[in-house]
Amino acid sequence: MDSQPRSLAAGLVSVVIPCFDEEEVLPLLFARLERAAESWGAPYEIILVDDGSRDSTWARIEARNSTDPRWKGVRLARNFGHQIALWTGLQHARGQVIAVLDADLQDPPEVLPRYFAKWAEGYDVVYAVRRKRKEGPLKKAAYYLYYRTLAFLSEIDIPLDSGDFCVMDRRVLDAVLLTREQVPFIRGLRAWAGFRQVALEYEREARAAGQVKYTLRKLIQLGMNGIISFSTRPLRLATYFGFAVSATAFAGVLFTLIQRIFRTQFARYGMDLPPGLATTVTAVLFLGGVQLVCLGILGEYVGRVYENVKGRPLTIISERAGVEKPTPPG
Ligand code: UDP
Ligand code: MG
Repeated sequence: MDSQPRSLAAGLVSVVIPCFDEEEVLPLLFARLERAAESWGAPYEIILVDDGSRDSTWARIEARNSTDPRWKGVRLARNFGHQIALWTGLQHARGQVIAVLDADLQDPPEVLPRYFAKWAEGYDVVYAVRRKRKEGPLKKAAYYLYYRTLAFLSEIDIPLDSGDFCVMDRRVLDAVLLTREQVPFIRGLRAWAGFRQVALEYEREARAAGQVKYTLRKLIQLGMNGIISFSTRPLRLATYFGFAVSATAFAGVLFTLIQRIFRTQFARYGMDLPPGLATTVTAVLFLGGVQLVCLGILGEYVGRVYENVKGRPLTIISERAGVEKPTPPG
């Protein structure tokens, strides 16, 4: 571990929280997080990113900032999605230690001291692993399968069942912010950065108020992004598919030939199959399906190349409350 002991009180703690239409939960969040933060015995800043909310979320953030300047806000010009909102918040964080939370109190701020303690021991990323999920069995099964598929496919070790909730050291954040990807998958980039990482379990609570903001579509998108950003194995899968299908087809041709030549012998064993339409149709459909799947996989990657080549800014900020424009790391 580090030769110099780390002390929370010596630096600044930044907490980054993306918020999308969270007016119902914000008063609860403000109260609980403030109580928790006062117990840390360290200077802190809370950066709330309004991801294009349509309700009073921004007004509440601004009001909070005017009464306590340690609570800061960044407002995105529209809904850019959770990962980009989080990214923007991270860009504005000034702390020596950075914590990432959800607005809905599913990641209870009261558990953070355990995470800070690990950081003080010398770990650079203390990521949270959910002990129990408070979601339905279908969603749970989907998450379970997804994280295992991602781990199998990805070329770096992305921890299982770990979301964005974490505490990280400044140097990890700086490394993450150096990456220039149009579609950041932050929990993956955090693992990619390296340094000393450790998992710490916690009990994920139920959403404190309001509705879930991650629609199924957004969730599937996030899942796809994770795989595409961290693996090219699906492309190779397409190649394997191709080989497998070609080999089957070749075997089929061989079988037909042999069957034609030794027709009488085959007939004796009841294997004189008449050349059927069904076989042809199945083969054509199967091949067509495989080709489309492979094209689709290819398309996902080409699309990602296109996104990155366009090089648009990740996000547009419409307002700031109490934060400086960030300087790019490097
Ligand atoms: N969120 C966001 N932009 C979005 C969707 C969600 O900033 O487009 C935020 C939301 O306000 C919350 C966090 O992302 O703080 C997690 O969303 P939610 O709790 O709805 O989803 P869960 O992860 O619990 O399924
Ligand atoms: Mg939630």
